[in-house]
Amino acid sequence: MTAYDRLMAFQRETEALGQIAGRLGWDQETMMPRGAADQRGEEQGAIEGVLHARRSDPRIAEWLEDANPHSDVARANLRLIRRGHLRATRVPADLAQEIARVTSVAQGTWAEARRAENVAQFLPTLTRVVALKRQEAAALAGNGDLYDAMLDDYEPGATAATVGAMFDGLRPRLVALRERVLGAASPAALDGHFPADGQMRLARELARAFGYDWSRGRLDLAVHPFSSGSGHDVRITTRVVEAEPFNCVYSTIHETGHACYEQGIDPAYLLTPLGQGVSMGVHESQSRIYENQLGRSRPFTGWLYGRMTETFGALSAPDADAFHAAVNRVQPGFIRTEADEVHYNLHVMLRFDLERALIGGALEVADLEAAWNARFEKDFGVAVDKPSHGMLQDVHWSVGLFGYFPTYTLGNVYAGCLNRAMRAAVPGVDGALAQGDASPATAWLHTNVQRHGGLYEPREVITRACGFAPSEAPLLDYLETKFAEIYAL
Ligand code: ZN
Repeated sequence: MTAYDRLMAFQRETEALGQIAGRLGWDQETMMPRGAADQRGEEQGAIEGVLHARRSDPRIAEWLEDANPHSDVARANLRLIRRGHLRATRVPADLAQEIARVTSVAQGTWAEARRAENVAQFLPTLTRVVALKRQEAAALAGNGDLYDAMLDDYEPGATAATVGAMFDGLRPRLVALRERVLGAASPAALDGHFPADGQMRLARELARAFGYDWSRGRLDLAVHPFSSGSGHDVRITTRVVEAEPFNCVYSTIHETGHACYEQGIDPAYLLTPLGQGVSMGVHESQSRIYENQLGRSRPFTGWLYGRMTETFGALSAPDADAFHAAVNRVQPGFIRTEADEVHYNLHVMLRFDLERALIGGALEVADLEAAWNARFEKDFGVAVDKPSHGMLQDVHWSVGLFGYFPTYTLGNVYAGCLNRAMRAAVPGVDGALAQGDASPATAWLHTNVQRHGGLYEPREVITRACGFAPSEAPLLDYLETKFAEIYAL
């Protein structure tokens, strides 16, 4: 066996254990009894300990030294293993385990505080999580910036400066569009009662329409929908609100986008470092293009109008155009995950600025709620009425995901670029969408993005797919054209 073979055999077992750790997380949010939270924290901490020991195993350095990569795939594997090894050796094992244990329990504490609308109940936990994550970032960053080290975990190659510049490019045109849209007459929302069993039937049909492989997946309910797993076990979740069917419809399509990325990676990469989505930003580009540029397009909503009428009876929207306007209705709401395409990135910018201030030390955890509420009122023109509509709405900070939020907007920007390139390359996308068939679009995404897994760096895979370097312009052009049509601007 060569050094490369030994390294890859060792890595394969690490990847398998990583998948098991991920499945514990899936279970925690779908099936686990609430009373098991502390025990699960210990279980997560234990498996994190095993993973950390494997990733920092000194033999990896020797194998890396001796390995002769014979192909692009081998070179990419070595690059990702080296990266993981470097990260693991910089973070002390006891710190990695403590973070896994504390954030696992913190998730339950956050959920309780959110239910109770009680920020004070959550602050000691959040203070602890911020302290631990800052310690970790300091270990990773060396003399560099703490926030950049965190961001790099989710989006290799991105920095606060590059992301901040992109946000600066987005903001003025988004704010101008928001003002024009809110100044126009608003279309009616969809009213009615949409029974849960009908919504779940439709959710299954939608996942299939977007290419989800049911033989390698399953659908369950979760408070915050997510997808989980790689390769031959990729699970999605959704939520059902009986008065708001679009919640379930678009959560399902979104998570299907994430899942199709994972299911679509070249099977030769299974349980290797290439066998997972390359970054959170690229991941989000898939979920968002499925959800928005495809799922909220006029052709597809025309088909959806028919299917929802068949499922739930006559709708409050009198025709497919009114239905399309209801799907894309713009409203300044409190909740990021329910935000329309015009407001969504403004939510992300708020979190990006606040978390950078928290990590950089300019903002104390104790002052976070006041800072959030002031900023929200400034950006959205509405005062936050309760913590679950404010700083307690997202799970991310409780589980230590600092540096994660900007990847949502990065994903939107990438989705805008991919949409432009895909529509130029593939005729008949809209004709098929009008029949409830997303396959011409998803086949292009599979060929140009999904199958590559971790083979290329994040920006590189988008640039190769599009034939141009990603920028925010295609997304802004798409949004302005779309909402000018719906709102007759
Ligand atoms: Zn997503």
